[in-house]
Amino acid sequence: MTSRRTLLFAGAGLLAMGVGGLAGRRWWLGREPELPAPIDSEGRALWSNWAGNQHAYPARRAAPASEAELADLLPAATSPIRPVGSGHSFTALVPTDGTLLSIDRLQGLVSHDAANSSATIRAGTRLSALGPLLADIGQEMPNLPDINKQTLAGAMATGTHGTGKGLMALHGEASAIRLVLPSGAIVRCSRDERPELFHAARVGLGAFGVLSEVTLQNRALQRVRKSVTLVDTDQLLRDWPALAGRHRNAEFLVLPFTGKSALITHDATDEPVRPRSPDQDSETLMDLKALRDLFEFAPALRRKAAQAAMADIPAEIAIDEGWKLLSNERPVRFKEMEYHVPIAEQVGALREIIARIERDAPDVFFPIEARIIAADDAWLSPFYGRESGSVAVHAWYKEDHSWMARLVEPVLREAGGRPHWGKLHALGAADLKPLYPMFAEAAAVRRAADPDGRMMNPYLQRIFG
Ligand SMILES: Cc1cc2nc3c(=O)[nH]c(=O)nc-3n(C[C@H](O)[C@H](O)[C@H](O)COP(=O)(O)OP(=O)(O)OC[C@H]3O[C@@H](n4cnc5c(N)ncnc54)[C@H](O)[C@@H]3O)c2cc1C
Repeated sequence: MTSRRTLLFAGAGLLAMGVGGLAGRRWWLGREPELPAPIDSEGRALWSNWAGNQHAYPARRAAPASEAELADLLPAATSPIRPVGSGHSFTALVPTDGTLLSIDRLQGLVSHDAANSSATIRAGTRLSALGPLLADIGQEMPNLPDINKQTLAGAMATGTHGTGKGLMALHGEASAIRLVLPSGAIVRCSRDERPELFHAARVGLGAFGVLSEVTLQNRALQRVRKSVTLVDTDQLLRDWPALAGRHRNAEFLVLPFTGKSALITHDATDEPVRPRSPDQDSETLMDLKALRDLFEFAPALRRKAAQAAMADIPAEIAIDEGWKLLSNERPVRFKEMEYHVPIAEQVGALREIIARIERDAPDVFFPIEARIIAADDAWLSPFYGRESGSVAVHAWYKEDHSWMARLVEPVLREAGGRPHWGKLHALGAADLKPLYPMFAEAAAVRRAADPDGRMMNPYLQRIFG
């Protein structure tokens, strides 16, 4: 998201509040969503995810202190057994009325190999802790997602990715994993040991067992130059295929109803450190909301006001190690849908989605995000066998997001898109099988790892059929 504070919008919220009918409608739309009771009638405490759109009352909660303790508790654990990371998925992967299993206490470095830049990490380690931990041994992950609050296990389980031509999602750099099966058996797998389990469970949706350790193929620590610039969306869409290949990491955020996009790039550099300035993305987002509140029913004015406000904003530059710049803080909560389409389809799908939103969804003010991800060979990876362009849409956590299913998802499905496993989508097994060449094989490996379906909750039953 662009992180420049714009001036014009400052009074817009207040002005909008002054306009009688509009203010009433906005108050209604912007009220806090109703929260389920903190304790249910049987005395079980509420669990909910980051976005607040998934809830559960688990009968049991467990947080083993070691892999051995994890292996001891699994055979007798109440089903469904659902591992939880940091709760940053939007889909119902985690909710259970059985056992909610956190591996928060399995953190840190197990070992590393300086010669080939690899490291074995306990799977409950947060990405935010992993950056400095790897920097201490002169390594970094080749790529990172937009935030770093996720656990390594949770990020791998849903195919979490960053952006960059030739750069794979996080699981693409895992060369071995250790998994504790529901039976309590501890298995190590890689391309050479139990390769079928390795290929199926690397992006495993927490449905094959509980990940306890991951060996990552990293690379030597690198300094990067981050640049954020505001550009014309039409020109950017024309330039994107060539532009994406010119930078180590490139992505953009279309600011709907403005004709503008924020282009974000990272490139290796030896220049001296220039630390990032304090994050102002949240203020910018609320400015876009104020603009929406004020000009929702006058799109031409909305565009004009935005363009006037954004006219002279300079590029924002920061230079530092990649783990300090690639991820961001996202204090404003939202709900998100993201699909990954074959790379050649990305720009066409984006054009259609922008047109549909600007025609039929004036409520939208969050940016539309576009990234690029290299192919890999994990059977349930959304990037299996194909370079992909991702397209993501967001809605403020307080507001309706039904427009995503109505306006956006059909375009992304038509383009051959595969959904992000951790983000909103409507697909089930019958839709997924034709999208994943190794879906049946992965489902068979899953049944062998968990023959009694002890890790299946209703959402996973929909996915695996
Ligand atoms: C603000 C925000 C920004 C985001 N940015 C990005 C982004 O840039 N790129 C991207 O791709 N995604 C992004 N996501 C999505 C996020 O990365 C994924 O949903 C990720 O899975 C969340 O990790 P988590 O640790 O919170 O796992 P959870 O959401 O808690 O769990 C996710 C899955 O992992 C499983 N799991 C957890 N621990 C284990 C374990 N030990 N063994 C086996 N399975 C386990 C769970 O059962 C579940 O199926 C973002 C989400 C948010 C809220």
